[in-house]
Amino acid sequence: MDLGIAGRKAVVCAASKGLGKASAMSLARAGVDVLITARGVETLEATAAEIRAATGAAVSTLACDVTTEEGRAAILAARPETDILVNNAGGPPPGDFRDWDEAKWRAAVEANMIAPIMLMRAYVDAMAARGWGRVVNITSGAVKAPIPVLGLSNGARSGLTGFVAGLARQMAPKGVVINNLLPGQFATDRIAVTVGAEAKRRGISGDEARVEMAKAIPVGRFGDPAEFGEVCAFLCSQQAAFLIGQNILLDGGKYPGTF
Ligand code: NAP
Repeated sequence: MDLGIAGRKAVVCAASKGLGKASAMSLARAGVDVLITARGVETLEATAAEIRAATGAAVSTLACDVTTEEGRAAILAARPETDILVNNAGGPPPGDFRDWDEAKWRAAVEANMIAPIMLMRAYVDAMAARGWGRVVNITSGAVKAPIPVLGLSNGARSGLTGFVAGLARQMAPKGVVINNLLPGQFATDRIAVTVGAEAKRRGISGDEARVEMAKAIPVGRFGDPAEFGEVCAFLCSQQAAFLIGQNILLDGGKYPGTF
């Protein structure tokens, strides 16, 4: 399918690995000029080279921490305007709510709520002025069904979700399409953290936890990041113009609700 976005510019945050990288790869394959960010420069450069080689698209890089004001200022300096914004950052650490003091809550809210909100605030008016824009916020299935060991994620991402529900409708008349994409369990480095926490919580081995977690997904496996990237690119496509303010759950059927 031609996504109708060749030649568009994108900023894909936290994209040297995992879901961000897969999203950048799919956008690049659709002919989008992508700026990818992450903190670690070595992996970031290797990923940029991999995406260029696989797609032939223009890929630029910026090593920065998207959860800081300085990091976001650097992104805006490198790309003052963009047609497509994919918001992403690392997830908060797992644990027990009794261990999370104010500083830990502030860090989670900064990373998974404030950072994406500040980047939307910086970019969407110019998208609206040009009459076209796409924003995808990578959130989590934890927004629909809380994950016991990831209370920081359950909480912080829900704040972002509430804000986006309003903003998406406010920007829709201007051709700016804003949605959230909710990963279930995908085979990335991050899932190892969740598997480890689940194993500890239940007193079983990491391998046992991994097998049981995969079995609990109707598809019977963790998601492939490439499957995530393709849906992300579709949400950035011309065809997604009527899809506004939705929370698209990509979880192999794990969430059991009818809606
Ligand atoms: P991942 O494989 O660990 O990759 C995370 C990427 O984000 C890396 O490129 C990392 O590079 C970058 N990053 C992390 N913190 C950053 C920061 N402060 N500033 C800039 N870049 C940063 O993780 P993932 O599985 O793709 O997960 C992406 C997001 O989806 C996370 O928020 C995660 O919690 C959420 N999620 C994932 C799953 C899953 O199953 N994988 C499920 C639900 C939600 P550097 O470390 O070099 O910065």
